Amino acid sequence: MRKSRSFFLSKSQFTRGLQCHKSLWLLKNKPDLRVEPDASLQARFDTGTEVGILAQQLFPGGVTLEYSSGISKNIVTTQDLIGSGAQTIYEATFRHDNVAAMVDILHRGQEGCELYEVKSTTATKDIFINDTAIQYYVVAGAGISISRVFLVHLNNSYSRKGDLDLHGLFTMDDVTAPTVNRQADIPQQLADMRRTLEGDEPGIDIGPYCTVPYECDFKPYCWQHIPESSIFDIANLRSNRKFALYYGGVLHMHDIPPDFSLSDNMQTQVEAELTGREFINTCNIREFLSTITEPVGFLDFETFMEAVPSFEQQRPYQQIPFQYSLHRVENGKLTHQEFLGEPGRDPRRPFIEKLLADTKNCRTILVYNQAFEITRLQELAACFPEFAEGVEAIIARIVDLMVPFRNKDFYVKAMCGSHSIKYVLPALVPDLSYDNLAIADGETAMLSYAGLGKINAGTEKEKIRQDLLEYCRLDTLAMVRIWEKLTSLTQPRGQLSLF
Ligand code: SF4
Repeated sequence: MRKSRSFFLSKSQFTRGLQCHKSLWLLKNKPDLRVEPDASLQARFDTGTEVGILAQQLFPGGVTLEYSSGISKNIVTTQDLIGSGAQTIYEATFRHDNVAAMVDILHRGQEGCELYEVKSTTATKDIFINDTAIQYYVVAGAGISISRVFLVHLNNSYSRKGDLDLHGLFTMDDVTAPTVNRQADIPQQLADMRRTLEGDEPGIDIGPYCTVPYECDFKPYCWQHIPESSIFDIANLRSNRKFALYYGGVLHMHDIPPDFSLSDNMQTQVEAELTGREFINTCNIREFLSTITEPVGFLDFETFMEAVPSFEQQRPYQQIPFQYSLHRVENGKLTHQEFLGEPGRDPRRPFIEKLLADTKNCRTILVYNQAFEITRLQELAACFPEFAEGVEAIIARIVDLMVPFRNKDFYVKAMCGSHSIKYVLPALVPDLSYDNLAIADGETAMLSYAGLGKINAGTEKEKIRQDLLEYCRLDTLAMVRIWEKLTSLTQPRGQLSLF
């Protein structure tokens, strides 16, 4: 039997333990089983750091404690700074009950010390109170009198005009009451976590907590017994219903009881998965195709988002279009136009100017998932009212190529319950693939474009530009091929239209 001891915990380990004791145990005992954050998650972490540093300027002139100095040293330095009357400390560090917590901003207000926890989100969420609660527990336990606790987050209604207005960019929510209300639970929560850490690996089964509130980084380890074609692959089936099946012993789609209700779309997916049947409603597809008139434009946008706006009339996390690809088909002839912005410069005005010219002669403009492109166009019209009429004319000609797939007028097993173009393309046009592209998805395109701004002109920069152009070009070429394939499906055998 292991000797009972008070395991040291950090704030993030405490919140991890609240989500799942097994996750905390694995972190302490088998950390190698964790999956490393991917580029997208790492970018979100980096954004959090950037926003946290910017928020410090809400209380300028404070003292920064560097993480690299070590927790023990920073705890001593924090006490010394408080003792010498420091007004503001960034990353003030405390320890109590063998828990360490760093406070993003500790500020000496008129009524006592104020704690500020900075988040790069645009709203306060209930789970953030777990962070402020453990901070309060540690800081108060270390003998500091706390007057108020705030969550600082971005204000998504702020639109940049000139220099950044930090008091417009950030919103502060007073969360003192819910933070204090949670104090009574913390000693028991810590005791429960430490009891788990004293024992062997907990026999906790998978559950909804594997993804809520955060995607657990031990999922590949804990979920390895889930087979292919499992109930967890059924698109749009609510998590609680999936786990009701799972806890009842149903893992594979073929074990779903006959009385378990599924929507028509879910039944289509399950039947295609189990039998390989193809669902093709030629009547509906023909009706959809009849709404398309040549010359046809096939249009796709790429966008980037920034937590902290760089340009005039830009809001936090606003999707800014920086690139488009446009294939055009008329009388069997395929032509192509494209736009890619210059990193560091607002791409929106040149983007819309060129788009208006390039789409002028298209009678139908096909996009994939029209809500995305239409919303971006409406935002451009709001930003540049002089183009509003032309933008409206584009919107009026848009037809959504996703419709036949969303309606399951065409569905095969390879689409895995999805109507995303990334699943539709290999199912319909297997010879056209994103596999060999350096940039193969929108998230990577966004990160690559952001990275371009940090590279000086040269071979590497040109390579990334070409990769971006190639990726977006393939998106619209894929739409051409999908449209062509749909057309061929509705024609008698032998009458295929080919580009
Ligand atoms: S994957 Fe699920 S069960 Fe496994 S540690 Fe994470 S939250 Fe816990």
